[in-house]
Amino acid sequence: MTAQHRPGLVLGSRFAGDFPELGVPWRAAEASVPRLLVLNEPLAAELGLDADYLRGDEGVRLLAGTHVPEGATPVAQAYAGHQFGGYSPRLGDGRALLMGELPDGRDLHLKGSGRTPFARGGDGLAAVGPMLREYLVSEAMHALGVPTTRSLAVVATGDTVQRERPLPGAVLARVAGSHLRVGTFQYARANHDDEVLRRLADHAIARHHPEAARAENPYLALFDSVLGAQAELVARWMLLGFIHGVMNTDNTTISGETIDYGPCAFMEGFDPATVFSSIDTQGRYAYANQPPIMQWNLARFAETLVPLVDPDRDEAVRLLTEVLGTFPDRYQRAWTAGMRAKLGLPAGAPAGEADELIDELSRLLGATRPDFTGFFRALGAAAEGDPTAVRGLVGHLADPWLARWRALDPDPGSMARVNPLYIPRNHLVEEALDAATAGDTGPFEELLVVVADPFTERPGLGRYAAPAPPDGAPHVTFCGT
Ligand code: AMP
Ligand code: MG
Repeated sequence: MTAQHRPGLVLGSRFAGDFPELGVPWRAAEASVPRLLVLNEPLAAELGLDADYLRGDEGVRLLAGTHVPEGATPVAQAYAGHQFGGYSPRLGDGRALLMGELPDGRDLHLKGSGRTPFARGGDGLAAVGPMLREYLVSEAMHALGVPTTRSLAVVATGDTVQRERPLPGAVLARVAGSHLRVGTFQYARANHDDEVLRRLADHAIARHHPEAARAENPYLALFDSVLGAQAELVARWMLLGFIHGVMNTDNTTISGETIDYGPCAFMEGFDPATVFSSIDTQGRYAYANQPPIMQWNLARFAETLVPLVDPDRDEAVRLLTEVLGTFPDRYQRAWTAGMRAKLGLPAGAPAGEADELIDELSRLLGATRPDFTGFFRALGAAAEGDPTAVRGLVGHLADPWLARWRALDPDPGSMARVNPLYIPRNHLVEEALDAATAGDTGPFEELLVVVADPFTERPGLGRYAAPAPPDGAPHVTFCGT
């Protein structure tokens, strides 16, 4: 093979080179018997990567971090963050590495690749189950049209990770617009002078919010643009019943992508107070709290930008506060537009009537608590004239609402394109991960195929569209696993 056609990977080291203050050059731990568990071939193709190469010996070691392409400089990135409201001045990649930038500018990042200087008390490792879980849910989110980090591969290391019981270890290869977080800005602001902060902001603008460079006040425009992206992102989550579970500022990206699928889960029966995470005892990150928590996280971002926005501190605070105050409206607009689409309302539907229907539906859902995903699919059938499935979920309570809604001539075709039939339901995810942990990746592969095409009904998949059997214990998720 000629040099120009080498299938291997060229990784940039732009972040590593430009921000020595925000990263520590580091190498992944050796894996005793690296074995590819899953490879995202469509994503590999999108990135111009040769799947045969990635399946080969060098490719698998690359995906586990133990083969470093020539010229690459893997770093453990530094960041701070508010976790459950409390500030940690030094978090960083305790078990992760930024391998470098892919040819299209996105990051290739590994999770579970061994202890780094940021590991604190942690072992730097990850188990097969949680890494496959991130793979599955992030790819489902992508298929659902939600901005998210992507998953390229999971490699089993052949080593044992000690949790409540010994588990097989794994490394996730993740692809993201970048790994810049609100926590990255918090760290730069707390530990470095304004020059570093400005360079970081310029880097973020160039990478994710280039239009801000042309604004009168580029750093205020950066804040405005991140805020807009996050308002839309959280609206998408809410419209799908997605509960992130650990919305700390170190898990809030500057790109507007969903990141860090730890204790996340999809709500089944509608309940605004739904929490799944075992450690979220106060319900801080409950379903209905996600929009205000995102605004809170953005307030922490705004604080870091004060020195860049205006030399007069009070003026900077005034300008940033003004932009921050636009969050509820922008969130509400994104959510309402999404609800109109979920209800299949034609563009010409009178806004007042549509808003009233949406309000009333929220009350109806709160009172009846149907399976959130199933309800909107059932509405699709009702739009075609068959309300049986809706009645199966909420009885006749919805009849007057249905009559008003149908008078607006909802479009079942467009509804079926935004209301998923197949989401990664918690009991199915657990079942697939348990099997994979025990050595059988079959159920994982089947579930992945189903959730990668969430809107198209296919024969024989009824079980994937149904909520958890009612006799099961409430679903609980665990963080940092
Ligand atoms: P997360 O809750 O996954 O966003 O992680 C929060 C912080 O804990 C990050 O700084 C992680 O790098 C770190 N962390 C989580 N698990 C481990 C582990 N097993 N070893 C070292 N650091 C970890
Ligand atoms: Mg994190």
